[in-house]
Amino acid sequence: MNKSELVKLRQDHVVKGVYTLLPAMIAEAKGAVVRDVEGKEFLDFSGGIGVLNVGHCPDEVVEAIRDQAGKYLHSCFMVQMYEPYIALAKELNELVSPISPMKTMFVNSGAEAVENAVKIAKYHTRRPGILCFENAFHGRTAIGMSLTSKVKYYKYGFWPFSPEVYRVPYAYCYRCSYNLTYPSCNIYCAEFISEKFFDLYAAAESIAAIIIEPVEGEGGFIVPPKEYLGRLQNICKDHGIVLIIDEIQTGFGRTGKMFAYEHSGVEPDILITAKSLAAGMPLAAVTGKAEIMDSVENGGVGGTFGGNPVCCRAGLAVLKILKEKRLVERANEIGKKIMEKFHSFSEKYPFVGDVRGLGAMNAMEIVVDKKKSKPDGDLAKAVVKRCYEKGLIMLTAGGFSNVIRHLVPLVVTDEQLEKGLKILGEAMAEQVE
Ligand SMILES: *Cc1c(COP(=O)(O)O)cnc(C)c1O
Repeated sequence: MNKSELVKLRQDHVVKGVYTLLPAMIAEAKGAVVRDVEGKEFLDFSGGIGVLNVGHCPDEVVEAIRDQAGKYLHSCFMVQMYEPYIALAKELNELVSPISPMKTMFVNSGAEAVENAVKIAKYHTRRPGILCFENAFHGRTAIGMSLTSKVKYYKYGFWPFSPEVYRVPYAYCYRCSYNLTYPSCNIYCAEFISEKFFDLYAAAESIAAIIIEPVEGEGGFIVPPKEYLGRLQNICKDHGIVLIIDEIQTGFGRTGKMFAYEHSGVEPDILITAKSLAAGMPLAAVTGKAEIMDSVENGGVGGTFGGNPVCCRAGLAVLKILKEKRLVERANEIGKKIMEKFHSFSEKYPFVGDVRGLGAMNAMEIVVDKKKSKPDGDLAKAVVKRCYEKGLIMLTAGGFSNVIRHLVPLVVTDEQLEKGLKILGEAMAEQVE
């Protein structure tokens, strides 16, 4: 079947709400390259939205999946236990803290991990409230959607939302909600929580958890000042609030550290991971301090498929590849090259309002005019469309869909990286013609 026939069939049989920005139709993939059903090659700088830090189909992962598939596909960990689940839990625990005792449970998706982290924090603290942030994205399930910031089309019409969810501004310096400037603001957005929020919105004693992305992903790759997370951690410590760090998008080397929270020297009480954990196999983890995680009684959390053995074997292979190929270090090299290029675009084009990034998580915010910073989502979309036509898959993001971003596999070669950035440059240049 050719591509246009497949696109037509997709329109006829697959729901519209599961939106596809580009008419891309993959046939096979390896590393940072995909081939579509017509044999055309693309550089994939989307990595399946941050899932493929180790690239498409690494040999070690494919081999582990094949091997496990020949042994057993499923038993349900709550019925019959198995080594891959236990081994991966141990590795994650040791990655998060080699000193304090950590525990891990597995589920099938990022959103499900968010749900479980929130459940555990509520049970542990016996408190109902969750504090989250503007421009946050935490998934599409009931609690995940409630914690998510962007209204259309993630929330609007899907009422009611989970109660006791409170939202405050994130440290989004380019569009500061308080119209302040860093560093003279002294991170007022964090101070606001202790100075005002607990008096005017919800008592600290009623807040179970603060849930935060160390760099906001879908919200537009928003990198807060280094001290921000530490300030939030202090608030949590002062009030017995659980700090849930959502590293579903930032985890596994993306930001130039294994986890992005390491940049600010904080420790999560609970860490949520998914996306790049298992190279595309559906797997997510909730890793947290043992005394918090084990406060839940027998049967209080779990699931039929969670921690599927094939997925866990893939996850073990991913961690091995990250280490052996030194991909965490590589993320910094990639990010440096991309940031240089993005800054050169910013000098050249009045529609690049902001350039930001951490490690290999880099973005440009597209605006009507630098001086006014009014978002231009159509222009961002037009650039990404042009990139696709020229053989490069990029992504947009942001509350106003006006951020151009990439989540390139960290196995990308320098040559591929240069080629991709050249295409992006051409697509940008066309917008001023
Ligand atoms: C993608 C994402 C989620 C949701 O994960 P799903 O697997 O799509 O449910 C939650 N939080 C963050 C930060 C994400 O990037």
